[in-house]
Amino acid sequence: EPVTPTLLYLDNVTVSFDGFRALNALSLAIDHAEMRAIIGPNGAGKTTMMDVITGKTRPNEGSALFEGMHDLTSLDEAAIAELGIGRKFQTPTVFDMHTVEDNVLLALKDDRRPFSALFSRRTASERERVDALLERVRLTAHRRRKAGELSHGQKQWLEIGMLLAQEPKLLLVDEPAAGMTDQETADTADLLRDIAKTRAVVVVEHDMTFVRDLDVKVTCLHEGSVLAEGPLDVVSANERVIEVYLGR
Ligand code: ADP
Repeated sequence: EPVTPTLLYLDNVTVSFDGFRALNALSLAIDHAEMRAIIGPNGAGKTTMMDVITGKTRPNEGSALFEGMHDLTSLDEAAIAELGIGRKFQTPTVFDMHTVEDNVLLALKDDRRPFSALFSRRTASERERVDALLERVRLTAHRRRKAGELSHGQKQWLEIGMLLAQEPKLLLVDEPAAGMTDQETADTADLLRDIAKTRAVVVVEHDMTFVRDLDVKVTCLHEGSVLAEGPLDVVSANERVIEVYLGR
């Protein structure tokens, strides 16, 4: 077995806005099929970090190496998505007027099909892929409903299913539990743990109950760099973390 490099390696990334450092020499490594939770106070740089990884923001300094060979800081957003990096924003964007299964069908990799394709016959392989994805995101029973009729939590899962249809190697997820019921929150933690068996997931999250449910390594950002990293118990006992984040 050849040694596989770290999936994502942010090395000394600095992002300045008019001299203000939103990221300040941030270094962070994410492994293949690792799930990582990113926490930290507002303004810590969490969103800016995601923006750098997806090519939305170009850092002033540093590099972001993907699979040991692609420097994301020199690629545009489309090229980065093509490499296998998917991002889920807080607000789900699904096609409300289409059924749950058609939303997933439209998202399938290799066939960014026109809407007219919805009326054409589906191949057996497409059907199988849609079935598997619906099962994975717990929406099989709702497949023929219009996406607009789903609960907030179900819409989030549908969007996760649509992102999985692109077969990303790394999935970035922004506060998936926001606005969810307790049950949906617990189900979402299960779902993300399941996804992280086969691909890496980075979750930005404020809900500490949810982070505890995820049961993964935690990185706490503060003023654009890593303040503490490790199991939640260790990070949440860190005096500086309590001072700047948890103790408020
Ligand atoms: P978080 O997601 O952790 O709340 P952000 O990454 O959104 O933090 O922001 C980090 C800091 O950078 C904040 O102080 C924010 O005001 C600043 N910032 C983010 N984007 C911009 C921008 N486009 N222009 C100027 N300042 C920005």
